Amino acid sequence: MTAIEAGVVYLVGAGPGDPGLLTVRAVELLESADVVLHDKLPGEEILGAIPPETREDVGKRAGGEWTPQEYTNQRMVELARADNAVVRLKGGDPFVFGRGGEEMEALAAAEVPFEVVPGVSSAVAAPALAGIPLTHREHASAVTVVTGHEDPTKSATAVEWERLGRSDETLVVLMGVGKLDAYVPLLREGGRPASTPLAFIERAGWPQMRVVTTTLGEAVAVRDAESISPPAVIIIGTVVAIRAAVTRWARGMRETP
Ligand code: SAH
Repeated sequence: MTAIEAGVVYLVGAGPGDPGLLTVRAVELLESADVVLHDKLPGEEILGAIPPETREDVGKRAGGEWTPQEYTNQRMVELARADNAVVRLKGGDPFVFGRGGEEMEALAAAEVPFEVVPGVSSAVAAPALAGIPLTHREHASAVTVVTGHEDPTKSATAVEWERLGRSDETLVVLMGVGKLDAYVPLLREGGRPASTPLAFIERAGWPQMRVVTTTLGEAVAVRDAESISPPAVIIIGTVVAIRAAVTRWARGMRETP
């Protein structure tokens, strides 16, 4: 590993939020960065350990509006050109629904050197922390990670929900809480039974982590009754049922009714 360099942007995955799940490289860079550009997704345990004078929030602004992506891109370039060692810290992995790809392209276009530091994506961390194996010889040999919140400017068919409904692979839905009403019926029409187990894993790796299990048929009602709120990962598939038998013996896994 090389030390941190001035004039370079580090696109760093923070993992799901437990400081113990940061990579060694991420910790090293966070300790020596001049500026850390971040949003809220890494969670307060990780963000709270960063010196306040180096933190710059480029997530949701007061008033609830998102900082435009162009601003973040521009800010990374400007800080690097001013000879700062810049960490762009992102929840999970930078390249899993994190817009890290766009940020890397923007840096390359501006001729700013960068390094990508992978992180433990919530897509794999959340089920692991909840005792749900994404694959299992008797349940699923494939996993699909999808966004439940398509960019509205893209074609409505970008995620083929009905096709996913026809298969029995495990589905991992990120950003999927709000639009559950829209895609659950499509999975049902594709053929997934209403009895298919489903888990909401809220704030995985945070002290407030909560797991709520239900079925595809009951999911919308349970989301509303339990006030499930983002960030949450949704797992759909028979692997979810394995959790009930193991949590008693799993350290740190709380059974949520
Ligand atoms: N790059 C991130 C994903 C960014 S998209 C990653 O690899 O994890 C944001 C979505 O990620 C959230 O809506 C939620 O679905 C999921 N997510 C991220 N961190 C999470 C966490 N700690 N617990 C549960 N879901 C999380």
